[in-house]
Amino acid sequence: MKIVCSDCRYVGEAVEMKKGSRKKEIALWCCLFLPGLFYTLWRQSTDGKYLACPQCTGTRFRTLKRREWKEFERKGSLPT
Ligand SMILES: [Zn+2]
Repeated sequence: MKIVCSDCRYVGEAVEMKKGSRKKEIALWCCLFLPGLFYTLWRQSTDGKYLACPQCTGTRFRTLKRREWKEFERKGSLPT
């Protein structure tokens, strides 16, 4: 999905991020087996994923329309 980030002006493909943190996952695995397992499953499920800007990992962006992307490819800037 092509996006334009409203925080850092990044234009391009959005990346898929995982919710939660790796550290928390490992900590849970070390202390308690079951919550760790559920946490891992949750992070791997589609619910645990979201799209974000690869540059600032922000989620405040809008998706680009096909026409806008073509314009960007051609001119190197977005139509205003
Ligand atoms: Zn950004």
